[in-house]
Amino acid sequence: MAEGPLVHHYANRLRKVLKGKEVRVEFGIRKLKQFEPSLEGLRIQDVEAHGKQFRIHFPDNRVLLVHLMMWGSWRIYRNGEAWDKPPDRARFILRTRDHEVVAFSTPIVRLLTKSELEGDPRWGNLGPDPLRPDFSTKQFFRLLGEQPAREIGEVLLDQRVISGIGNILRIEILFQSRIHPRKSVGSLSDDDKHKMLRWILKLTRTWMRTMGRKANWISIYRKSGKPCPRCKATIEFFRQGGRITYACPKCQPA
Ligand SMILES: [Zn+2]
Repeated sequence: MAEGPLVHHYANRLRKVLKGKEVRVEFGIRKLKQFEPSLEGLRIQDVEAHGKQFRIHFPDNRVLLVHLMMWGSWRIYRNGEAWDKPPDRARFILRTRDHEVVAFSTPIVRLLTKSELEGDPRWGNLGPDPLRPDFSTKQFFRLLGEQPAREIGEVLLDQRVISGIGNILRIEILFQSRIHPRKSVGSLSDDDKHKMLRWILKLTRTWMRTMGRKANWISIYRKSGKPCPRCKATIEFFRQGGRITYACPKCQPA
């Protein structure tokens, strides 16, 4: 699953080759084929990441929304360059004068107007994204405060509360903040919440900055049975919200 930093990293790369460029769009999805002529020759206004979503903006107020989920991937090819993936996996191709940008195996591809996207119960309505300049601490704390009974480890994965946090980040954020994932949001002190916010901002940025290098910022993810790097207690793991999570029983008392 691509978490926010990876999505932003790819969106930056896509923006470099797509922004302001005239495109020809070819869909490998039958029900979207009918829209190809209406997109012909439009200049892409921008490519942005919001949480785990890619949003490709067209000048006529439409947005191509893409979510990679577990299997999707992007490729940017120079024109004429051989593809390293089977063409029948291409969900769509954006052709510019110089490049072919291909979304392979992406399960979610939607073409929506901006207002349709905002009103969409599944894909609109995203919580603030810590990697976006419009991230609002106030909004995050307000949305968090609306979930007092839920466990914090689960709420951090809820894209309507904060967007872009996936399994690795939530585990590491809670470890660094010394908060057990099973604690309810309502039981957290103001100090806990501010500490957590600091680590959300710090770890998302660290991942972004060190993309493609060894992830030295990962302390306990997939380290069950190993000693905690801080106190040497044995790292435990359990399931939460359908995902495996890890915690140090000493540093993160339940
Ligand atoms: Zn520990």
